[in-house]
Amino acid sequence: MDNKKRIVVLGAGESGAGAAVLAKIKEFDTFVSDMAIINDRYKSLLDDNQIEWEEGKHTEALILSADEVIKSPGIPNEAPIIQKLMAQGTPIISEIEFAGRYTHAKMICITGSNGKTTTTSLIYHIFKSAGLNVGLAGNIGRSLALQVVEDIYDYYIIELSSFQLDNMYQFRANIAVLMNITPDHLDRYDNCMQNYINSKFRITQNQTPEDAFIFWNDDPIIKKELEKYGIEAHLYPFSAIKEEGSIAYVEDKEIKITEPIAFNMEQESLALTGQHNLYNSLAAGISANVAGIDKDDIRKALSDFQGVEHRLEKVARVGGIDFINDSKATNVNSCWYALQSMPTKTVLILGGKDKGNDYTEIAELVKEKCSALVFLGLHNEKLHAFFDDYGLSIADINTGMEDAVKAAYRLAQKGESVLLSPCCASFDLFKSYEDRGEQFKKYVRAL
Ligand code: ADP
Repeated sequence: MDNKKRIVVLGAGESGAGAAVLAKIKEFDTFVSDMAIINDRYKSLLDDNQIEWEEGKHTEALILSADEVIKSPGIPNEAPIIQKLMAQGTPIISEIEFAGRYTHAKMICITGSNGKTTTTSLIYHIFKSAGLNVGLAGNIGRSLALQVVEDIYDYYIIELSSFQLDNMYQFRANIAVLMNITPDHLDRYDNCMQNYINSKFRITQNQTPEDAFIFWNDDPIIKKELEKYGIEAHLYPFSAIKEEGSIAYVEDKEIKITEPIAFNMEQESLALTGQHNLYNSLAAGISANVAGIDKDDIRKALSDFQGVEHRLEKVARVGGIDFINDSKATNVNSCWYALQSMPTKTVLILGGKDKGNDYTEIAELVKEKCSALVFLGLHNEKLHAFFDDYGLSIADINTGMEDAVKAAYRLAQKGESVLLSPCCASFDLFKSYEDRGEQFKKYVRAL
């Protein structure tokens, strides 16, 4: 009989496949099961490491015998196999929790409803430009687990979704960043906002007074909930303007960070524009400051960051009209920030798979900033009902991106901008938000 501890990995995407390799290398009896078909790349990775796997099914006998299960963040707790594991008390953890056991590197973790990828990428850019030995992990880049196999880094910058946080217990973030909390994914939290909030605050669990917790001080939910969690980390609240409690803000057109080391730079030199990106830049600047990175290195990296694809990405200027790809704006709140950052009148392309959107949040900004609207989706009725009486020119497109781009180009005047910031998921006409953004760029370039 083999007395090895058995680890079962559910879901063989980037995180699952990486976790399986790490488990195998750490000599666990390792098995991978995925309800869907596994991507060829990950199949080869599993085969190369002699890891047993199955696809298109979950064989209970092979899974319920696990001592511990590593669950992909995409699998909801309601899945029957998870229910059975929970009923028999099998510990279920996330890939990040597992990988965290095998590294002594410093962990910089970023969560929030919006701004995670941008802030994570920006922090990574600062650390890397400053010459630190740093890896990028979590929702972006390679899985943490696979990187921990070699474990050559001193720091990991990790983007964490609430689903990953849900299955984290002992993991400790040396620097934790919480950007904001607005309703999202509530279908996975029994439609209970408190559950989602608790999940986000898990980023502070296990932190000690030597650690840092960086958060947006003006977020009404964070502000109200902060006291509940007995946070031990040193607090670094930031805000747009100087206010009680904030250690970082803008004053006299300068970014100021007052702790732990006094830092300032002109707001105008920031590479990323728009109010939301001010928050992202502040959070990133504080993280680098806490890590002891030289002020000049922070200034330089905050001013030469190239931005992240599909997030307020400047595509081209055609006929005096700027085209901006914000395809990642899959909820109304992120479109609000995109519109708010527009320096000119804007033709807004929006629509897609509506997740129960309430457009009231962008109503005032649409009136103020938009010169025309392009509805792009299979079902645009809800958009018509909300926006038709605003007196704006409207194009209704249900064929695809090429027609939407052409319509927007027709509607825009010289000196205006065309912004794709859809408020909706992409699955009605596109494979993904990336596909939607790629198509936008392709047709803009073909104008
Ligand atoms: P996430 O990884 O959390 O989805 P991203 O950095 O990918 O966030 O940004 C997604 C969209 O959210 C962007 O296109 C932008 O419009 C908006 N956004 C970015 N940062 C913020 C922020 N700090 N607050 C609110 N909205 C933001």
